[in-house]
Amino acid sequence: MDPDSPEPKFTLKLMVHKQQKRVIFAEADSNFVDTLFSIMTFPMASILRLLLKLPNPKTNQIGCLINLYQSLCDLPMSFMSSEEKKWALLNPRTILLEDICRKLKVNIDDGKPTEYFICQDFYCSRVSGAGAPLSNCDLARCSHCGKRMNVKVEFEDSTSGGDGDNENRSFDIGPDQILLLLQGALSSKNPMTWMLFPGSNHTPSVSAFRQEPELKTAETSRNLMLKVTIQKSTSKFLFAEAHCDFVAFLIEILQIPLSSLIGKLLKGVSVFQSLKLLFSSISDLTVGEYMKSHELKNTLLQPDSVLCNPKSTYCYSYFKDGSFHAHLTLSKTRKDRDFEVFSNCLFKDSREGRYLKESAKFMLTDDLIITPLSSFSSTSMLGKLKVPLNDVEVHDVSISVQEVLGILDASSRSSCALSKSIVKKIIETKN
Ligand SMILES: [Zn+2]
Repeated sequence: MDPDSPEPKFTLKLMVHKQQKRVIFAEADSNFVDTLFSIMTFPMASILRLLLKLPNPKTNQIGCLINLYQSLCDLPMSFMSSEEKKWALLNPRTILLEDICRKLKVNIDDGKPTEYFICQDFYCSRVSGAGAPLSNCDLARCSHCGKRMNVKVEFEDSTSGGDGDNENRSFDIGPDQILLLLQGALSSKNPMTWMLFPGSNHTPSVSAFRQEPELKTAETSRNLMLKVTIQKSTSKFLFAEAHCDFVAFLIEILQIPLSSLIGKLLKGVSVFQSLKLLFSSISDLTVGEYMKSHELKNTLLQPDSVLCNPKSTYCYSYFKDGSFHAHLTLSKTRKDRDFEVFSNCLFKDSREGRYLKESAKFMLTDDLIITPLSSFSSTSMLGKLKVPLNDVEVHDVSISVQEVLGILDASSRSSCALSKSIVKKIIETKN
């Protein structure tokens, strides 16, 4: 976008309760609804990354979900399995997200367009006919020879390019307001009101912890372990220790597009209510009348993390002036240079495999700050909390996947995400 051109905005007509500072309903055109629906294709990590950029992030108003994302970003490289994995964690995106967002009037996605890289060694894969590993991360290592995949390739043709008490009020809505709407969708039951009157007293208090529904542990067999330290005399949660699988699971959850998270993982679990309503709205829209096609509707509802252009892509390499050149192409037929090689592209997903080193251990605070665990972590944390060593007890707590999702949901509204569910569980087990 031209930096000098004015920021695109929607005009939204809202019926507002003046005294209660509450939005009653809104009238919007398809541009606004397109932007709203596009949110469902974002992974949670993208949303958290964007929320961190709000001019006034009001992080205290979005519970401690932001802490979780920031902690994961801050994890030292020595705890990550590779630089590529750290990159994947910091750049959660899908091509799908990019395709959809590029066409929006107001696009809140500020990520760089996806770039593609192939192995730096011309002879390793392309000449041998084994296929050209393709990555969107220049820190990735070639799966054939192990060298850096840092040769940038672009599409040769343009096919990949961009193409009473109440009153009626009109509001201009730009990217910042959409981010506030997102923040509201995570932390409030009234996201539209949140967007218009951020911090308004009427907005349900985020500290009012909602009673979690019965979590259906039978729905999944996967359980994760936490070693939880509580204060004996007060049953107060102090901190938890976790192996890499618990933290890796949190990273993985944050990479899943919202629709998939809500439509598949959160089925029947009452969390992220506003986002679930948005998901239902998309499900209920009739194709033809309101939604352009079944394909688009399915894409919005099941945006599996497609990371590469799904069309057949070839890597086209040739020598010229003593060095080799490479491009991506969708055409398999052209042949107009000497020593040219066509290879199928083998997309290498930076998120595949382990994010964290298997031996890594972590400490988690109640507000979801995650730090690497050292032999001094426990003692220094007890000193900080002013709890004597003889007043603590340690419990091994098994947590189901659904319960972890409940913790994530709670973390968007509370600063004590872990203690609310875990301490209750420990007390129930003790009795
Ligand atoms: Zn290679």
